[in-house]
Amino acid sequence: MSDYKTISATQIADDVREGRGSAVDFTSKALKLAATEGRELNAFITLCEEKALRQAAAIDQMSPELRAKLPLAGVPIALKDNISYTDYPMTCGSHILDGYIPPFDATVVTRLIEAGAVIIGKTNMDEFAMGSSNENSYFGPVKNPVDRSRAPGGSSGGSAAVVAQGIVPLSLGSETGGSVRQPAAFCGLFGLKPTYGAVSRFGLTAFASSTDQISPFARSAEDLALLYRVVAGWDENDSTSVAYDHPDYASVLELDRKLKIGLPKEYFAEGIDADVAATIDRARQALESAGHTISDVSLPLTNKAIPTYYVIASAEASANLARFDGVRYGLRESNDRSLEAMYSDTRESGFGPEVKRRIMLGTYALSSGYYDAYYNKASQVRELMRQEFEQSFKSVDLLLSPTSPTPAFKLGEKIDDPLAMYLSDVYTAPASLAGVPAISIPYGESSDGLPIGVQCIAASFGESLLFQIANHLVPRA
Ligand code: GLN
Repeated sequence: MSDYKTISATQIADDVREGRGSAVDFTSKALKLAATEGRELNAFITLCEEKALRQAAAIDQMSPELRAKLPLAGVPIALKDNISYTDYPMTCGSHILDGYIPPFDATVVTRLIEAGAVIIGKTNMDEFAMGSSNENSYFGPVKNPVDRSRAPGGSSGGSAAVVAQGIVPLSLGSETGGSVRQPAAFCGLFGLKPTYGAVSRFGLTAFASSTDQISPFARSAEDLALLYRVVAGWDENDSTSVAYDHPDYASVLELDRKLKIGLPKEYFAEGIDADVAATIDRARQALESAGHTISDVSLPLTNKAIPTYYVIASAEASANLARFDGVRYGLRESNDRSLEAMYSDTRESGFGPEVKRRIMLGTYALSSGYYDAYYNKASQVRELMRQEFEQSFKSVDLLLSPTSPTPAFKLGEKIDDPLAMYLSDVYTAPASLAGVPAISIPYGESSDGLPIGVQCIAASFGESLLFQIANHLVPRA
């Protein structure tokens, strides 16, 4: 059976709009692949077969005039299982949401459906989006399609795997500190972390609200731009969403000027894999020979990113996860001793070890007496990091760096060492804390055939430039 490695979302939408292809056929193929190859990879938690086929049939039956207006007509897509979609369970990769079915659609879901996309399933993920390998899921790890003994990255590992395997051409994940860029790098895909506030968080289960962003995966810069245009934009249901006049990104992919690009020297410190460093060097040479100017820049606070991120993200998570108490959502451990005991028994059996670790860390960082020393201090460092980025974008258009210090590591390799796992976010957490957009671009392979990603970071609302540089480095075949 052929898959979606060769047919792009752009082509599918064209075919369906012009009546050359049927949405039902495209959807059925994706569902079949999901049930076979998707299962082997453990990439899906739920398949949304019935609604998907109904949506697809409605698109096929539309008048050609109406169908012509759908930017994603008949394109099968998968959603990370922390995005609300009615009629199907939402687990967030956790046991604590057992039996929970969201009563409303996330804003991105409404926009996808209005654009003609067909949601075929909900993907596996690290529990509540905490992790860098997808091994923290209650539903077990996802396998990396490139090498099944390796992690697909996390926390949006399922959403990356289903696009890398060609089950769907597009998917949505979520980013808090790198959870789309890092899996994109591990699986050989394009992944964008948008400017904070560009995409509505309404219907995204909160992890660290001040950095969370729903974020797209695709196999080309063009498809990524197409999907991003559909989901981005102001939303009255999200008070942190920003009104911005988004261009039609996919139609302005040509880079029409020479850029000034900065290489932050702190991103090439100890711990970087030799193949990753060599890949960045190749990207640098390609850009220089295309006439762009590359210079060294310094972002001295980079080495504070991991402690800052883990204090802030855990503090926000401890507050956000307080709502899962056995009363309002999912699992309830019945306990006739007391209400207090019911809460604690539910949380004891419902949450996995990494989530508990973060809740404890976050509660401690927010407790009176420690708030100033930890949470406040981290917030101050974060603001300085934001200013550091702002300053650097006065002299360069983009920053170029690795996405991850290493290619995909083995499943099991880091699971017993949380600090080693946290360090894999060293290049992605800074842009998350600063709120600026960043993209991971698949750029070659390691000596043993594993994908390597290069990251470009832009100033706020510089997404157009990110799609252009991605398309420039890896033009569509
Ligand atoms: N790996 C990071 C963490 O565990 C990032 C997660 C994310 O972006 N959702 O917190």
